Amino acid sequence: MKHLLRIILALLPVSLSGQEAPRVAYEIFVRSFCDSDGDGIGDLNGISAKLDYLAELGVDLIWLTPVSPSPSYHKYDVMDYRGIEPEYGTLDDYKELVKKAHARGIKVIKDLVINHSSEQHPWFLEAVKGPENPYRDFYVWMTPDRIDSLGIAVREGSPDSWELNPWHWAVEGETEKYYGLFSGVMPDLNYDNPVVRDSIFAIGQWWLRETGVDGFRLDAAKHIYPQWEAEKAHAFWQAFREEMEKVNEDVFLVGEVYADAEIVAPFFRGLGANFNIQMSEKLPFMVREGRDSDLVEFLLESYGTYTSENPAFVDATLLTNHDQNRVGSVLEGRTEDMKVAANLLLTLPGLPFLYYGEEIGMLGQKPDPQIREPFLWQLEDQDPDRTRWTTPQYSTDSAVAPLAVQRKDAQSLYRHYRKLIALRKSRPALAQVRQPNLLRIPVREELIAFVRPHTSGDVLVVHNLSDSPQQFTVPGEYFKLSRKLWKPRGLKPLGTGQWSLPAKSMLILAK
Ligand code: CA
Repeated sequence: MKHLLRIILALLPVSLSGQEAPRVAYEIFVRSFCDSDGDGIGDLNGISAKLDYLAELGVDLIWLTPVSPSPSYHKYDVMDYRGIEPEYGTLDDYKELVKKAHARGIKVIKDLVINHSSEQHPWFLEAVKGPENPYRDFYVWMTPDRIDSLGIAVREGSPDSWELNPWHWAVEGETEKYYGLFSGVMPDLNYDNPVVRDSIFAIGQWWLRETGVDGFRLDAAKHIYPQWEAEKAHAFWQAFREEMEKVNEDVFLVGEVYADAEIVAPFFRGLGANFNIQMSEKLPFMVREGRDSDLVEFLLESYGTYTSENPAFVDATLLTNHDQNRVGSVLEGRTEDMKVAANLLLTLPGLPFLYYGEEIGMLGQKPDPQIREPFLWQLEDQDPDRTRWTTPQYSTDSAVAPLAVQRKDAQSLYRHYRKLIALRKSRPALAQVRQPNLLRIPVREELIAFVRPHTSGDVLVVHNLSDSPQQFTVPGEYFKLSRKLWKPRGLKPLGTGQWSLPAKSMLILAK
């Protein structure tokens, strides 16, 4: 009975508290999104001013990249965990943003960067004073001999950090070095120290209580303990969740764990959602090749792995984020291909996270600032909202039509995203986030076909990834699904349940 009740609750779109669970999310790189005061830097009031735009697009959760004081432009190294970077606004602006978002049914999550602090955080400035300093143990220190004897002096590069030498001198030639997985300017905090744990838990609770923010995106969640003690991380996040739930029992937590499903899975014990980075490393390249590489099989296998740890897991899906080359550039700027990528993301299960600008086909390749270029609201000479903190190399007016232009064009990528999101949210079978409903239909590699089974009505989706028309036959048991929810231009019926799908297109059928 308890099990049945859990299934029923998971199927309900509305939680017991009456708040609707988010169904489409959006990552905002704060510096690049919208400038409200003419200094060229994106800010909180700029985001507030664009909430109607986000609501129009159909977004119901926004993730803001870090907004606390930091010496870097990206702010993933925090100097003051309770502060707001003056370039971005004030704490009152932040509270106002959360309030206005809630008024539009949009949740807000804060990027909480607690694996490491800035080297300029007051804790670290104390810690470097010497082994006797009371803050020394806030960080991870070791003598070179001990580092060597444990064999942890060097690490292999990983997609989330190419730092090969994670031990750094505060002062060259001292007795101890400190651990900074990402770099010397980002010293890792020591979560074996209960004072550090309690301080960080108090910071999380403070944001929930003080600002009404709905939860957190947990940066570098995988690395919260150094790699030689990685298994302690799972228990840490369970404790973190329990502490946050004391303030908000519906707190939304999504983790950044760059790894295979088996390694991600135990993080679901504490974090209700984790990003499916593997999917983002697969999907855009499949679209580029015009061929499936077992995407549905891959997803079904990961669901099985995640379920064993947490049956209520949320698969946070994405095409790209602020650390990856933009999908538009992977697809060499081809709008038709970007539409195929969007079609896949927005018809598969999970909670999709769009990266700002993806919906207008923004381009960008590393180095990082070029995958975080200013959002194009209007043509440049009429765009007071456009940020100017970096000179765009990829997303210029000549390469990407600004939003205002795309709004007026029924064939634009933006209009495609909006229509697709509206369709997703209108069908419970497509919008289901928890307990992903997905059945594979075997087809040749130019196609991907699946059913999203649901008590309110099954939906069948077929994608043609290739650049030529492809035939598809609806399997006998789904013959009743003959009403077209999404019909591509140039679709040809060939017989009962038989279709010729035009190149780079999608067909969605329901009863
Ligand atoms: Ca500004």
